[in-house]
Amino acid sequence: MAVIPEPIVALTSALSKLPGVGPRSAERIALHLVQADSGAVKQLAEVILLAREKIQFCTTCGALTEKSPCPICEDSRRDATLVCVVERAVDILSVEKSGTFRGKFHVLGGKISPLDGVEPDDLKISDLEKRLANEPIKEIIIALGTDVEGDATSNYLAKRLARVGLKISRIGFGLPAGSGLEFADELTLNRALEGRREMI
Ligand SMILES: [Zn+2]
Repeated sequence: MAVIPEPIVALTSALSKLPGVGPRSAERIALHLVQADSGAVKQLAEVILLAREKIQFCTTCGALTEKSPCPICEDSRRDATLVCVVERAVDILSVEKSGTFRGKFHVLGGKISPLDGVEPDDLKISDLEKRLANEPIKEIIIALGTDVEGDATSNYLAKRLARVGLKISRIGFGLPAGSGLEFADELTLNRALEGRREMI
């Protein structure tokens, strides 16, 4: 039986930790890389490092950005009275792809999930309260997934953020049950945004 050289095993193991890469794909990519032109592999490694070094979280909204505040927070043409609350930074990309949302964002950094040890204090809720105090926000659109934690977090947010003159709504219409924004296509997400329901 052929023995796979240790560096290939190590590379396969590292690749299989990436999201969406199963053991078979990891092995295929590893075998491709160790046989590819070494200049091309070096370039790939450098691009990965450079991207990691250049990207940070926006200190205002939590988006992935090259500079903070991010271009969305800085864009005066965007509606500063409207803030879309999402779970993760990548969810901003999903909403942006839908193309119709012209407000700003706020990344929570997770969902309340006592079983996983995620409490409200672990999320960027107090940062959102600070924004409510300092920015001309009139409506919060909660765009969390439609699973149990998404429901619990949305209800918690609606109660905690409730204040005079602030509308709090939640998207949901047409989103696949029990899933996050990344599984919704652009049209579905558009409809979900337009069909948002007022919570309070
Ligand atoms: Zn930002």
